[in-house]
Amino acid sequence: MLQSILSNLAIILLLHLVVHRIMNYRKSLRNYYFFLLIVLTFSVAVITMFYLPIEFDGYRVDLRMIPLVFLAYFSNWKLTLPVLVISSIWYSFEGGIGTTPGIIFGMIGPTLLTLAVYKKNKYDSCYFDKILLITICWFISDFPIVFIVPNGLDIFQRIFIWRYAALIGAASVWYALVLFEIKREHLKNQLEFVAWHDSLTKLLNRNKFFEVVEVKREKSDVNHYLAMADLDHFKKLNDTYGHVAGDHILIEISDIFRKYECDLVKVGRYGGEEFIIYQGQPSFEQAVLYLEAIQKEIRTTLFCIDQDIATHVTISIGVAKLENDMSLLEAVKQADRNLYMAKENGRDQIKTSADQIKSTLTTVGGE
Ligand code: GH3
Ligand code: MG
Ligand code: MG
Repeated sequence: MLQSILSNLAIILLLHLVVHRIMNYRKSLRNYYFFLLIVLTFSVAVITMFYLPIEFDGYRVDLRMIPLVFLAYFSNWKLTLPVLVISSIWYSFEGGIGTTPGIIFGMIGPTLLTLAVYKKNKYDSCYFDKILLITICWFISDFPIVFIVPNGLDIFQRIFIWRYAALIGAASVWYALVLFEIKREHLKNQLEFVAWHDSLTKLLNRNKFFEVVEVKREKSDVNHYLAMADLDHFKKLNDTYGHVAGDHILIEISDIFRKYECDLVKVGRYGGEEFIIYQGQPSFEQAVLYLEAIQKEIRTTLFCIDQDIATHVTISIGVAKLENDMSLLEAVKQADRNLYMAKENGRDQIKTSADQIKSTLTTVGGE
């Protein structure tokens, strides 16, 4: 008996490991392959459990219900029903007494019940409803034996404690593993967020921003633009209202930037009160129009500092086209030069490399 209990636990552990690997590659897998892998893995696990029954008092029972109920609990009917159909068909080929009730009460009943009842709050920490679920499934699966087999009541009485303990034990081990995995994933996400975002504004930090832009540059077939944006006279604002008020304004301005982010527009905090903006746009004009909209929203927003104090803030922007043969750093330098020109020209404006050329020509012409 101990050997078959350990074999069942080994299957559960193996199944958990395989599912964990599949989930790790979830983003890079096509939906079709993900579906196939999950259905195949769970079907193999359920079918293998047929062949590793646990013997109690001369009666053989297996734990095939556990993977089915877990799949139903943590996923949806699209993944669960194919596994249920495949494993039921396999089991029906085994034939013999108890095959049909085994499929109906031991597999279909508990799985459909779980699918019907558990649609949300799957990851809450309340163990009671999970124990209740396994108890109900056990009852659906085992109690009919009382009516189906001639000395059913006697068999039920002799095995029910062992069978119930085995189901609860196996489900608890698996659920503990799943919870551990969920907590680990949550921690990993938190760690990634801290590593990739600026702590004050929650915008991408400089390193992650450049990483994201390099990927966009390789993948999207559009023109790429980089813009450097710098708040105007921010030091004066800090000196007048204090650094806490300054921080608050930086957060609110970042929220405005975030509103304009999409697949082809990304914003990062470059440093202090400087932001860097990437755009994938069909033309320079489109890129400038987009920046003008952000600039206008910042200009027209009234930033509250205290109950009865509010202020306006403006922002100057320099834009550069990120040519194919150009490094990101070169584009940043060019955008920075254009930003400097926007500042020189009176602030609250956008300057491009074309403006830079015009200004150089004017200077040369003037000389
Ligand atoms: P300009 O229009 O020429 O850009 O003038 P400015 O005052 O904005 O530029 P300057 O470089 O003189 O000052 C930038 C100020 O930004 C100084 C610094 O105190 C402030 N600053 C930078 N980072 C933060 C921050 O995280 N929080 C707050 N509150 N202030 C910051
Ligand atoms: Mg600055
Ligand atoms: Mg500034």
